[in-house]
Amino acid sequence: MGNQYPHREPLRTQFASDNYSGICPEAWTALENANRGHSRGYGEDYWTASVSNRIREIFEIQCEVFFVFNGTAANSLSLASMCQSYHSILCHEFAHIERDECGAPEFFSNGTKVLLLPGDNGKINPTAIESEVLRRTDIHYPKPKAVSVTQATEFGTVYSVEELHVIQEMTRRHHLKFHMDGARFANAVAALGVPPKEITWKCGVDVLCFGGTKNGLGVGDAVIFFNHDLAHEFEYRCKQAGQLASKMRFLSAPWHGLLQDDVWLRHADHANRMAALLETEFLHIPEIKILFPRQANSVFAELPTPLIQDLYGKGWIFYSFIGKGGCRFMCSWDTTEADIQSLVTDLKSLIQKNPPAHS
Ligand SMILES: *Cc1c(COP(=O)(O)O)cnc(C)c1O
Repeated sequence: MGNQYPHREPLRTQFASDNYSGICPEAWTALENANRGHSRGYGEDYWTASVSNRIREIFEIQCEVFFVFNGTAANSLSLASMCQSYHSILCHEFAHIERDECGAPEFFSNGTKVLLLPGDNGKINPTAIESEVLRRTDIHYPKPKAVSVTQATEFGTVYSVEELHVIQEMTRRHHLKFHMDGARFANAVAALGVPPKEITWKCGVDVLCFGGTKNGLGVGDAVIFFNHDLAHEFEYRCKQAGQLASKMRFLSAPWHGLLQDDVWLRHADHANRMAALLETEFLHIPEIKILFPRQANSVFAELPTPLIQDLYGKGWIFYSFIGKGGCRFMCSWDTTEADIQSLVTDLKSLIQKNPPAHS
């Protein structure tokens, strides 16, 4: 009996995004275990309850946990739980909720406006929060209601505990809710080496969108409410938005694999270390300039434009969307040292064959 599907070479390890990677073995095993027999639907199952408890253990607090299909839904629905339509959300100008969610935060909150703040290295400058709040306090302006930070940031940097406390102070002073986009939360925890509570509820974070996909799941993000009031009727929001999985255990069980024995932190730490290795290699190549401090699992670097084209020609996939020559190289839980060497070898041979005109 022949295989009805044509054989396809798997794509080699790429550096475009950590969502190019597959499902990690631990999540895969948990998924298989959840696939034995019947279970209750819509999150009434053993796996969902058990993983939610594990999350409470990890964060060392009683929190409300919901599973949705992706980060856009997690961010948008949790922000909608904080804001009325006449409110505004303050975030960094490069935030995913502003640039990469197709207006979903505005859509799901029925029109809450996203207001953009500046800040170096992808991090909000905390004084900008205050100036934005105080700039207009009249009824004609969309009232600032929430601050959203991304941890780790869109530029691969990480907010320190101290920096988060400064933002907390701003939110306290101006009665703002505190939202954290943690699509790469694991990488931030691994980079900082602190207990998860130190960069979430102990800094006043009301809601964390804890991303699992980039850490080794196939699908599914957790929305974690440290502020219980905001979780009120959140399940209805999820259902209405088409985010209530009927066979919920297949969203939640893989988390079990990730969260046991600190697997999530090992994967994140590995990805971070691979990025550190790539950064070290880049630092030895004079044609390449590092753009942001490398703290998590990505390296942002400026490459001569012809070199970018040559690398694409060699079949490498990475983003080069950051202005002219700015490239992003993202490492995953399964990136190996050999993958890094393979990219660097191609880079070096291309430079040797075709040295850039300018130094
Ligand atoms: C990947 C990512 C998300 C989630 O994106 P989805 O494609 O909706 O899962 C959210 N925030 C940031 C910063 C991300 O990188």
